[in-house]
Amino acid sequence: MKASTVVTAIGRSKTATVLVRDCSLAGTVRTLGTMNKRHILISGASIAGLACAYWLRNYGFAVTIVEIAPAPRAGGQAVDLRGAGRTVVERMGMLEDARSIGLEQAGISWVDEHGRSRAAISSDDFDGEGFISEIEILRGDLVDLLNRRIGDEVEYLFNDTITELAQDANGVDVVFRHAPARRFDLVIGADGLHSSARAAAFGPEEQFVNSLGLYTAWFTAPAFDDLDGWYQTYNCAGGLVASIRPGRISTESKAALSFRPRRGETIRYDRRDRLAQVALLDERFAGAGWHTARLLEAARTASDFSLDGMGQVDLDRWFNGRVALIGDAAACPSPLSGLGTSVALVGAYVLAGELGSGAGHVAAFEAYDRIVRPYAQGAQQLAGGTGGFAPMNELTIRLVQASMSWATRWPVRGFMEKQFNKSTDIELPYYSSDL
Ligand SMILES: Cc1cc2nc3c(=O)[nH]c(=O)nc-3n(C[C@H](O)[C@H](O)[C@H](O)COP(=O)(O)OP(=O)(O)OC[C@H]3O[C@@H](n4cnc5c(N)ncnc54)[C@H](O)[C@@H]3O)c2cc1C
Repeated sequence: MKASTVVTAIGRSKTATVLVRDCSLAGTVRTLGTMNKRHILISGASIAGLACAYWLRNYGFAVTIVEIAPAPRAGGQAVDLRGAGRTVVERMGMLEDARSIGLEQAGISWVDEHGRSRAAISSDDFDGEGFISEIEILRGDLVDLLNRRIGDEVEYLFNDTITELAQDANGVDVVFRHAPARRFDLVIGADGLHSSARAAAFGPEEQFVNSLGLYTAWFTAPAFDDLDGWYQTYNCAGGLVASIRPGRISTESKAALSFRPRRGETIRYDRRDRLAQVALLDERFAGAGWHTARLLEAARTASDFSLDGMGQVDLDRWFNGRVALIGDAAACPSPLSGLGTSVALVGAYVLAGELGSGAGHVAAFEAYDRIVRPYAQGAQQLAGGTGGFAPMNELTIRLVQASMSWATRWPVRGFMEKQFNKSTDIELPYYSSDL
């Protein structure tokens, strides 16, 4: 644990709040002025967790967020703000800020090994509701925006995680890896695909996560001159995909490398060993062509490198007693859906709104599950699936490119629109604290 841990007490109106930057001193601080409030622990300080914290704080709950990373996690490519997810951002009063830091992208194109475009869909082709949505924002920028919107009235335990939960009729006793054990009224798991809150309250990950047979590394790379504002995707036989899109800063781009396991192969890697992960990518992408050699080079040193298997989460119920799940922890649709951020924002908004309506957590959790579930299920129905994203052979690559070059025309257009329109497929309730 760092010796230079910073604990900052911040006074705001009648309540003083304590911002804990590192868990090592968590036991020595108190969140003042919140003793009479119901206290909710959120696990995960990404999109679902931060959005939920914002709304819960608005409804007068005391909120503590535990995040495994030592600081808000940067990184990730662009996430789409579309449909109901965009509406939630608007109700948070953040839409114009989000728009102002959105990425400028001409569209998406599928290129061959020489960088020649084989199919392209411009950003305007589906009125901002297509592959490239009207507002695409870097995941790290959205996390930043949410943090600033929340302000200071939330307690953070960085560099920590839940290891045990024990609930009774009146509350939940939480054991952390580092901070002293504490009791909360409710716990919300917003800690992503590999949620530890879910593991503690519902059971092991294997019961709920269905692998899509695809691994993706995301990282920042230097700028590529030939992008010309386009999000370029390159498919290589064997289920390899490389993509590069413009970043917000002109000197950098956002890259992704994806691969499918070989027949019968189980991919194993140490999640903390970057070099081993890059070596795995080196082996998969050796001689793959296009810009892959430069991308592999960038992967070695990128500050925001992350590699993970893609999967979808399937639970019959998103709550168990006093513990509820939101976002990827509850219903990850995978990045292939383009809807993970919308599901996260919508889930956070509805769960907090139902809790804020004062009906009690049992009724609130049930209402949240009932309202959001059809939306999340729709998001999980992937149009092209893994095969369409990462074709195994040249023939399928050509077929995908042919269908993409037909995307704006009948009958492919209707099929595409049906997929994209899922983002609006929910009637969002209004709650008392909405702007
Ligand atoms: C670093 C990163 C990069 C990503 N890049 C992309 C991308 O390029 N494109 C895309 O479509 N999607 C990306 N995603 C996924 C996307 O953010 C989510 O699918 C979606 O926005 C739903 O958000 P979420 O808040 O539910 O989950 P996530 O965004 O996955 O957030 C989960 C949060 O919980 C934290 N956490 C994890 N385990 C624990 C634990 N045990 N205890 C406490 N905290 C924990 C994580 O550090 C993270 O902050 C990325 C996610 C991350 C974390």
